[in-house]
Amino acid sequence: MCGIAGIYSHKSVAAELYDSIIHLQHRGQDAAGIMTYDDRMHKEKGMGLAKEVFNETNMELLTGNIGISHNRYPTHGGFSHGEVQPFWTSVPYGIALAHNGNLTNYQDLAEEITHKDSRYLNTNSDSEVLLHYFADLLHTNNPPEDSEEFFYLLCNAVTKIFKHVNGAYSVVSIVIGKGLVVFRDPQGIRPLVKGERSNGNGGKDYIFASENTMFYALGFEPKGTVLPGELIYVDEAGNVFNKRLVKKSFNPCIFEYVYFARPDATLNDVSVYRSRLRMGQNLAEAWKKKHPEKTPDIVIPAPSTANTAALSFAHELGVRYSEGLYKNTFIGRTFIMPGQAERKKSVKYKLVPQELEIRDKKVMIMDDSIVRGNTSREIVRMLKDFGAKEVYFSVACPPVKSPCFYGVDMPTKSELIAGNMNEVEIENYLEVDALLYQKINDLVEAVTRKGDHHIDTPCMACLDGNYVANDIDEAKISEMETMRVHDRNGG
Ligand code: SF4
Repeated sequence: MCGIAGIYSHKSVAAELYDSIIHLQHRGQDAAGIMTYDDRMHKEKGMGLAKEVFNETNMELLTGNIGISHNRYPTHGGFSHGEVQPFWTSVPYGIALAHNGNLTNYQDLAEEITHKDSRYLNTNSDSEVLLHYFADLLHTNNPPEDSEEFFYLLCNAVTKIFKHVNGAYSVVSIVIGKGLVVFRDPQGIRPLVKGERSNGNGGKDYIFASENTMFYALGFEPKGTVLPGELIYVDEAGNVFNKRLVKKSFNPCIFEYVYFARPDATLNDVSVYRSRLRMGQNLAEAWKKKHPEKTPDIVIPAPSTANTAALSFAHELGVRYSEGLYKNTFIGRTFIMPGQAERKKSVKYKLVPQELEIRDKKVMIMDDSIVRGNTSREIVRMLKDFGAKEVYFSVACPPVKSPCFYGVDMPTKSELIAGNMNEVEIENYLEVDALLYQKINDLVEAVTRKGDHHIDTPCMACLDGNYVANDIDEAKISEMETMRVHDRNGG
């Protein structure tokens, strides 16, 4: 999972790209990078949070009015400095690219690039492969001079990418002397939104980003979503060219709404906050039907992604919402921290139960999802240790049964609790008095009920095993899981 942004502006973009990284920090905390260009490419990238990577001195070197940024949370490739995006190549033009997603035919493409196209890959990153594949398709003996011709060349190149590159990819790219290029895979699995603002001289500035979380701060007006299969090109004079090159079904990731996106974001023209409220409503209805005799005294979210759903859940049940678990926000999200040992250790440091809210009460814990199950089990134990009379557990997301190969770092199937246990077994494992998962239909309804959206069916492959790009079978699962474990172990 990553965050990307691309900005075309009438003024220097470096500071706004930095702000974009800050506003997308929740999408990736392992590394960050910015590339801009004027007459040359300028890059600054490194491991860690944005505030650890950038400073006044290195920001000053990022000159230019067009640029891209990237927040990294690795789902493919290793964890070294060399894997930090954006990637760039000097042939042809000088092209830099930042990518959010995951290519499922990475190995075939890497083979083609190194053997057929004689290009050198310096990392195991699928984004580097995508950059070189794109660059090779733009390579011609007669480089186009004007923007229309260049857009024609881009259309041909990106159409080929859409045909041959499998998986999920939202992309922002800069091409020296040409401008900003943006495209999104034909099913729009990973998010990509767009915005505009007046530059005060009768022209416009443009932003494209994984989420619109920075638009307000930077003065951009949201202009909806980059459509699946769409290519957008902003040339150096600010002329915009766009074309939807391929039209397939629109299958954006449902897990963005459950967990990843910031609640104030609007993705695919659907408000994340509102969808989470609806998740809570639907789950509360289901709870009342299934357990009419079990009414909790309070509803406590496992902070903080579940807060919104817990709020509406409590409201529908007519019981009190309580912040009975205090979260220390200076410790990273457990789902993001690599390694089981760190994950286990961090729960107690991260969450502090408030005894006054818990003792002698029937407590409903609401979580956004259960992945491995360890954190949920520890939370239940903490509540019991702090005197809860009964503990119920509700989950805004249905059981996560299969790994994600489209850009979210899910564990392998053997590590997913719902990949190995049924709901009764999970209830027993968690040692709760009652457990309720959201039904898949109710989750889809919560996400698609409102909004001026074009979603056909969200991707739910991690929930229902239906990999929407039709690119995954048992052999591919085994190949991808092996690669993921290899990457994790620093191979
Ligand atoms: Fe999102 Fe799950 Fe699909 Fe991955 S498999 S893109 S996490 S819905």
